[in-house]
Amino acid sequence: MSRLQQTDGLTEEQTELIKLVREFVEEQIIPVATELEHRDEYPQAIVDGMKEMGIFGLMIPEEYGGLGESLLTYALSVEEIARGWMSVSGIINTHFIVAYMVLQHGTEEQKQHYLPKMATGEIRGAFSMSEPGCGSDVSAIKTKAVRGDDGAWTVNGQKMWLTNGGSANLVAVLVKTDTGADSVYKNMTTFLVDKESGFGETAQGVTVPGKIDKMGYKGVDTTELIFDGHRTTDAQILGGEPGKGFYQMMDGVEVGRVNVAARGCGVARRAFELGVSYAQQRETFGKKIVDHQAVLFRLADMAVKVEAAHEMMVKAARKKDSGQRNDLEAGMAKYLASEYCSQVVEDSFRIHGGYGYSKEYEIERLYREAPMLLIGEGTADIQRMIIGRRLVEDYKLKA
Ligand SMILES: Cc1cc2nc3c(=O)[nH]c(=O)nc-3n(C[C@H](O)[C@H](O)[C@H](O)COP(=O)(O)OP(=O)(O)OC[C@H]3O[C@@H](n4cnc5c(N)ncnc54)[C@H](O)[C@@H]3O)c2cc1C
Repeated sequence: MSRLQQTDGLTEEQTELIKLVREFVEEQIIPVATELEHRDEYPQAIVDGMKEMGIFGLMIPEEYGGLGESLLTYALSVEEIARGWMSVSGIINTHFIVAYMVLQHGTEEQKQHYLPKMATGEIRGAFSMSEPGCGSDVSAIKTKAVRGDDGAWTVNGQKMWLTNGGSANLVAVLVKTDTGADSVYKNMTTFLVDKESGFGETAQGVTVPGKIDKMGYKGVDTTELIFDGHRTTDAQILGGEPGKGFYQMMDGVEVGRVNVAARGCGVARRAFELGVSYAQQRETFGKKIVDHQAVLFRLADMAVKVEAAHEMMVKAARKKDSGQRNDLEAGMAKYLASEYCSQVVEDSFRIHGGYGYSKEYEIERLYREAPMLLIGEGTADIQRMIIGRRLVEDYKLKA
């Protein structure tokens, strides 16, 4: 059991669940992660194991067949999973966001239809805002749904960077719908698009061209999604009414940010473990490198960052669980954990010397994975903008 990243005040149930996840990671993920990642192979056996454990329904309420756990339990599970292999946490993240959005914003019919099957992992969710021309600036999306005289909608456009875009069979997609509202943000709608998992034309007018070849974060598929005259109805609008999509997506991203922070914590802890272990084995100038003060200090700095990021992530999760808005805390946690993760991974890489550059050592994989956390669910600079603006609101000078 790690001395770092312990969490006070957990219930017996939470402790037991996290322990189970930790064991699963030790036995089923860590031994195969690097090999599968190098082959860019989808970890089907791991996904099947997670389905059995109920991970896909961790936060879905029991009335819909899930485990009804808190965001904190979920985030701590993600931390453990990412410690084993970040891509596996990516497989559950978009699913979790979509399930959360259906639960918070869906009609009762949508909840009844999707949530029980999402809890078992039979339906798996992907989340789609980004396009080839925009990511940070969501207001610039071009994919558009137009309502015809028969009341049905026709969707055209191109989406980009869908994590699980191939493997998922449900995509929550943000599109423009000109409802005549005065704000661009009120002219956006989230549609729930059912599709087959796989590539090619996976539903009428919906094509997933293939996997994007990435620098890291392999195994999990990341794709484009092309709409060419896709026909759909009001029943597939999240919540049943157009014009609310932007706010629904932002709510999803807010919990997603806690998840990204948790991933940063998990990857950083693993990088620390690899570094502290290597430093006690490698000898230079007649002693173990851990006995050179420069290396020891590096390890100390790494551990402080691993611990601080965890504390902030836990705070953000607990705030959301208490029913309060956590946009500031989630932004801070995501920003800090992803920056620290990059730094800790870089430090561990340096401790490994030349071997860190070899594909035989796990740190090589972590080195390619960490940068993704600086980009996904809002780049570091976008987090700083959110954090800064929110603080200026709170600390506004009285006129
Ligand atoms: C592996 C991977 C998986 C992804 N998965 C998903 C997914 O599942 N669903 C999804 O919808 N998207 C996904 N994304 C997309 C991701 O959310 C975007 O890449 C991200 O939001 C950044 O958008 P962009 O790439 O268009 O960069 P841009 O928005 O073009 O930004 C480029 C640079 O400009 C900076 N910048 C932009 N605007 C400002 C500003 N106002 N002030 C200061 N700096 C600014 C950014 O910080 C960045 O450094 C994924 C991306 C990757 C790489």
